Amino acid sequence: MTLQVATVVDTRAFKRSLHHSERYNRRGFGLGDEVAGNLEQAYQSDLIAKLRETGHTLQRGRLTVRLAEAFGFCWGVERAVAMAYETRRHFPTERLWITNEIIHNPSVNDHLRQMDVKFIQVDQGVKDFSEVAGGDVVILPAFGATVQEMQLLNERGCHIVDTTCPWVSKVWNTVEKHKKHSFTSIIHGKVKHEETLATSSFAGTYLVVLDLAEAQLVCDYILGNGDRTAFMARFAKACSPGFDPDRDLLRLGVANQTTMLKSETEEIGRMFERTLLQRFGPIELNEHFLAFNTICDATQERQDAIFTLVDEPLDLMVVIGGYNSSNTTHLQEIAVSRGIRSFHIDTPERIGPGNRIEHMPLGGALELEEPFLPEGPIRVGITSGASTPDRVVEDVIKRLIDLCQT
Ligand code: SF4
Repeated sequence: MTLQVATVVDTRAFKRSLHHSERYNRRGFGLGDEVAGNLEQAYQSDLIAKLRETGHTLQRGRLTVRLAEAFGFCWGVERAVAMAYETRRHFPTERLWITNEIIHNPSVNDHLRQMDVKFIQVDQGVKDFSEVAGGDVVILPAFGATVQEMQLLNERGCHIVDTTCPWVSKVWNTVEKHKKHSFTSIIHGKVKHEETLATSSFAGTYLVVLDLAEAQLVCDYILGNGDRTAFMARFAKACSPGFDPDRDLLRLGVANQTTMLKSETEEIGRMFERTLLQRFGPIELNEHFLAFNTICDATQERQDAIFTLVDEPLDLMVVIGGYNSSNTTHLQEIAVSRGIRSFHIDTPERIGPGNRIEHMPLGGALELEEPFLPEGPIRVGITSGASTPDRVVEDVIKRLIDLCQT
């Protein structure tokens, strides 16, 4: 997604001045107690709270459910959603916008629509801010917004409520450090994901790599084994303007979209370190490679938990989360890599009626599977992405219980 506004030259200075503006808020409005009841009613679950206290296992008839040790709402998401509710209370009559889905979960976004929060429309990949006026209130989501969007909203005289997760801000600080020391930022992420778009907007020179295969191409190029034309064709939409692989791959720092597969980010960091070591030798390595740990704790905990869960004997897995949720997709990837029948669903309604499930296979389109649950005793593993409320997990479990009783 792109935005046609002037480039912000000094992003640090812009952010500093924004933070001092009276029309900018990133700490909420002190209305936590007032919105707690609404949040609890909409998103929390007594059943899930009990399961968390009693070993994450539920047994009903022929069904055994095993919940991952860590799953669901992370604190960054809880904080962003709570801030959105507080914002509605604090500005009861103002027009309220959000630059994107606050998090990648359909039920949470539906609740916001019911509170008359408007979503900025996207037309052919370009966000349309034309209806946003001075005095309107605009919420920036948990995965942030580009510096150009912030600049536009600030210049238009909007109130900005910034719910960007501190873990994401940490990545922005990391790419700012790369920029300050004239290092190119290698960003492990999905080039069109809002968080990566935002991170790129704070970076100086950058290149986005999706996975190990793309990282390998870049490493090969650094070692003189690549073709410049093919390289530029491959990364044309994944690099900063004017990127020159012969000039800009000599001093590198690694950063990542916070929800990527942790093991992959670490391996990519090691690949670049090894490559630059090979090219420049150990004495000069520090002049050419900067490593920072920008993997978010919550992503790491959820990935570690599913690695443990898939070691158990399971008949199948259900992975719950938005289809555009990067961290949920990675949980699904882990289950699939272990050869487990695994179903990624975004809402409980995907299960049933009858013994069927509508799910999204990795990299595919929605598919219907029927019969879904096998005969006899079954063990089902369940996990959910960082943007999935407990209430949704509870509803999925209830549907599984119902299916096993019919
Ligand atoms: S997944 Fe991590 S980075 Fe994303 S909102 Fe949650 S805590 Fe923040």
